[in-house]
Amino acid sequence: MKQVVIIGAGVAGLTAGIYALRSGFKAMILEAHSGPGGFCTSWRRGGYLFEGGMHWLTGSSPKTPLHRIWKETGALNETVPVYVKDPFLSVESGGETACFYRDSEKLKEHFLSISPEDKKEILSLYRDIKRFSVTTVPVMDPRGLKLAHKRPFPLALLLGMLPALLRMPRLNRMTAAEYAARFRHQGIRLLLENVVEQSYNVGSLLFTLGCFASGDGGYPEGGSLNMARRMAGRFESLGGTIRYNCKAEKIRLADAAGRRGSLKTAEGVYAGREFIPADAVIVSADTLAAIDRLFDPALHEPWMETMRRCTRPLINTFISLGVKADLSHLPENLYFNLKRPFTYAGFTVASLGFNNYASYKGYAPSGCSALTVSITADTYDYWQAASKAGEYRQRKEELAEIIIDRLAEEVPQIRDRVEVRDVATPLTYERYCGAYRGSWMTFMGKNEPMRSYPCKPRSISNLYFAGQRMLAPGGLPVAVLTGRQAVQRLCRDTGTVFEGAD
Ligand SMILES: Cc1cc2nc3c(=O)[nH]c(=O)nc-3n(C[C@H](O)[C@H](O)[C@H](O)COP(=O)(O)OP(=O)(O)OC[C@H]3O[C@@H](n4cnc5c(N)ncnc54)[C@H](O)[C@@H]3O)c2cc1C
Repeated sequence: MKQVVIIGAGVAGLTAGIYALRSGFKAMILEAHSGPGGFCTSWRRGGYLFEGGMHWLTGSSPKTPLHRIWKETGALNETVPVYVKDPFLSVESGGETACFYRDSEKLKEHFLSISPEDKKEILSLYRDIKRFSVTTVPVMDPRGLKLAHKRPFPLALLLGMLPALLRMPRLNRMTAAEYAARFRHQGIRLLLENVVEQSYNVGSLLFTLGCFASGDGGYPEGGSLNMARRMAGRFESLGGTIRYNCKAEKIRLADAAGRRGSLKTAEGVYAGREFIPADAVIVSADTLAAIDRLFDPALHEPWMETMRRCTRPLINTFISLGVKADLSHLPENLYFNLKRPFTYAGFTVASLGFNNYASYKGYAPSGCSALTVSITADTYDYWQAASKAGEYRQRKEELAEIIIDRLAEEVPQIRDRVEVRDVATPLTYERYCGAYRGSWMTFMGKNEPMRSYPCKPRSISNLYFAGQRMLAPGGLPVAVLTGRQAVQRLCRDTGTVFEGAD
């Protein structure tokens, strides 16, 4: 039985481990951190649980092809309720609340009632949401792979998606912010700016809105960490081993025996003082960081150069607040324009929003509420400079203060009631997940192609890559699909039958 060593116990690594075991390989995961999940995580502070990863899960709906993969990996099962709350996003603007409803009829009526002067744009948005509500992430198998369970090519699904796909080139010429600017109503503009990042293209925005309109994109009970734990449990129950606090330092390469030219083979992984031999290695740690850090010399293949040159990493700062007040009457996801914008690390923050977990059980002590705030901006260099100057903690404290102050201007119940505060910077993410500049997704701006990368270098026979960076914009669906894909390639290369289901 061949031994596969997987670097990283994030969603991609756990997925790869599960499918490798099912297909008859031995599998060991090396994880630098003390637990599973990578970016798909949550943490406890002073009695509060802060959801630090997923806000919505594409494929949570049983109607989607991806749902089967989440079930095969143990991420979801019949006992895990999935919350599909409506509205999924609200804004306070000019004394009124504007909402993004999943129900597209309700959304249309709501938008028309608050902004009849935007009728033309609202109807166009409504039609696009309808078109995109049939788009979903397809699950396909590579040609030439021996499959234990063959599945028909999803032709009907792809044909149904055609009207939306044909709209893509036009939509991708605009950012979400430019599209939002077509609307006169300030609240609708703010909503459209905050579904996905403002500089994402409109195709990404509509794909997300379509996903919500179809009933997909729910939040599994227990959130990110519980989902990662279920996946780790599935991996271990199949006989896999996870070695936590075990950081892979380098992958040892050798000339491939009996092969001409420059083909190499991965012999195993150095972790601390230990060498762990492997018949195949799957790297699920951020590819953009791994191709430089895990190889000596660094890897340079044409697709890797494209990845280095073209990736625009999505980077954020994440502020978690434990509030001694019951905020369950407030929306779950509320945004507003600030009365007093502020500057953070050279960026102007003019609007702010929070995720409110007050209505979820177990996220806060009784009568209290857990809130999280995310600010997307590349502040990596700012925090590095702060760290070098010995001002890291102080700057984090200052940022928390200003956020609390601005939130309290909109939600006065917060003032003087924040008892727990926690700031995760890009350096925090880098330290915990080893990702390039602490980034957990990739920007998909206007006119940018949807870049995908091969999961295997041409020059190394038994090395595979998986994870968020392999297909822009990344996220959990990409992590799970590329973890599966890496094992499918391994199976194809070794003439092994790929076994997906239990
Ligand atoms: C605030 C936030 C909100 C998000 N919201 C959503 C959402 O709503 N929906 C969605 O789909 N996605 C969301 N994401 C993105 C999603 O969580 C990530 O894209 C996904 O979890 C990435 O998974 P991965 O397995 O590719 O990588 P990672 O999670 O980075 O896993 C890689 C693992 O490898 C380990 N590792 C790295 N280097 C080494 C080494 N040298 N040796 C050993 N181990 C190593 C790391 O510790 C990590 O555990 C969100 C992320 C964040 C941070």
